[in-house]
Amino acid sequence: MLVKTFSSAVFGINAEKITIEVNLGQGINYFLVGLPDNAVKESNQRIKAAFTNNGFKFPGKEITVNMAPADIRKEGAVYDLPIAIGILAASEQVNSESLENYLMIGELSLDGMLRPVRGVLPIAIQARNDGFKGILLPEENAAEAAVVSGIEIYPVKGLRQVVSFLNNEESILPISPSFNLDGGLLNSFELDFSDVKGQMNIKRAFEIAAAGGHNIILVGPPGAGKSMLAKRLPTILPPMTEDEALETTKIHSVSGRKRLIKGLMIERPFRKPHHTISDVALVGGGTIPQPGEISLAHNGVLFLDELPEYKRSVLEVMRQPLEDRQVTISRAKFTVDYPASFMLVAAMNPCPCGYHNHPTRKCVCGPGVVQRYLNRISGPLMDRIDLHVEVTPVGHSELISSASNEYSLEIKSRVIKARNIQKIRYSSERIYCNAQMNKKDQELHCEISSEVSEVLKLAMEKMGLSARAYDRIIKVARTIADLDGSEDILSIHIAEAIQFRSLDKKGWAENIS
Ligand SMILES: [Zn+2]
Repeated sequence: MLVKTFSSAVFGINAEKITIEVNLGQGINYFLVGLPDNAVKESNQRIKAAFTNNGFKFPGKEITVNMAPADIRKEGAVYDLPIAIGILAASEQVNSESLENYLMIGELSLDGMLRPVRGVLPIAIQARNDGFKGILLPEENAAEAAVVSGIEIYPVKGLRQVVSFLNNEESILPISPSFNLDGGLLNSFELDFSDVKGQMNIKRAFEIAAAGGHNIILVGPPGAGKSMLAKRLPTILPPMTEDEALETTKIHSVSGRKRLIKGLMIERPFRKPHHTISDVALVGGGTIPQPGEISLAHNGVLFLDELPEYKRSVLEVMRQPLEDRQVTISRAKFTVDYPASFMLVAAMNPCPCGYHNHPTRKCVCGPGVVQRYLNRISGPLMDRIDLHVEVTPVGHSELISSASNEYSLEIKSRVIKARNIQKIRYSSERIYCNAQMNKKDQELHCEISSEVSEVLKLAMEKMGLSARAYDRIIKVARTIADLDGSEDILSIHIAEAIQFRSLDKKGWAENIS
């Protein structure tokens, strides 16, 4: 007898339907065909044990299991359940009538219980789009799948329960979708910008960065609070849209990390990889491709503390994704794309000893050392950073100042307002914020009057800024104008944007190729 069951293969951050055909013939043998990897091939042993331990009979026949389409690689133990049910149905130990209604996933343990698998969110989306009535899946994966509406999610404990369900001997209550975006008006963070005394210029820089999605670098001596400030950035970021939240959760779903996903991720991710990270861990890769830190930071923040300490090769592999906002991983027989649209937040000391330009302490670095230190970061990488901020230790007067500190939520409400302006501006384009503008978008949306243009040119000359700073200044000025609620970019906006190019002044652009 020939029966069909249905399952799914994850590819990048998407999934495709897999049809599993099981045929019983004369003889005693077991064939598994259709590009399975080793974990799939080993399902045979797990299924046999699970049958024995649950009172099912492994048929003494020639069993052929075909997984289609044949050109899609099937990996992992996710197919244990649909193969097992296929064998039981073909040998008439379970009713096969309703098999076409369900997509099944799950790894079997030897006692027949189900273990969670990865990539459940993309699988649930695919199952819904392919018109399945429901998904039978391990209990631990149910919350993740329930993010998707329009399909019934049946959490099951083990093989025996699935058989009872298909035989109409037991009903399982599908769990209801749990989709709750709070509109961004609640902050559940323990940190807050109101904890930070003074540092007004840095808070302002973060507000601009968050409002336009700009990359930002903080330069300052040890102890000035660079990472303390950076860690508070998530508290003022705008909430993710439904689409953004789904995309980000999908990446975390396929990443195979141990942590189970409890539902839709609603907070933008904040990733802080250590400076010893490898190229592959940062951008993704591996024999079975996995998304890297830049993709796990998708729609959120990638924070690189002590930027010059990262291996040069690591920083270089990040350049292309910074431009393309996605990363492509090529293997002999296939390529996968992972989205990687993130805000880069970097921090560094101004020199190896940390006290170059310090108001009270002396820098002990020899001649040329400071420039060599800065040169560890290539010009093209620096060129992709819109805002440069010098962080100085908070002075005594600022510390004792009684000026009240703004709460993160107050800053965030201005950020959201500015983002809403951008949402409307780019509604017919495939970008969401000012930082994502290309040259053409910039020409279209950042027109400046000849008067303002003159102010900009003069200021750039006076401050010794290189030509490549021009585009950055315009983009940041666009965001400042949006925060200001101004349709036009005015000279006051340009003047503020220019202040955030301090590293250009020191000759980054000229001395680095
Ligand atoms: Zn120094």
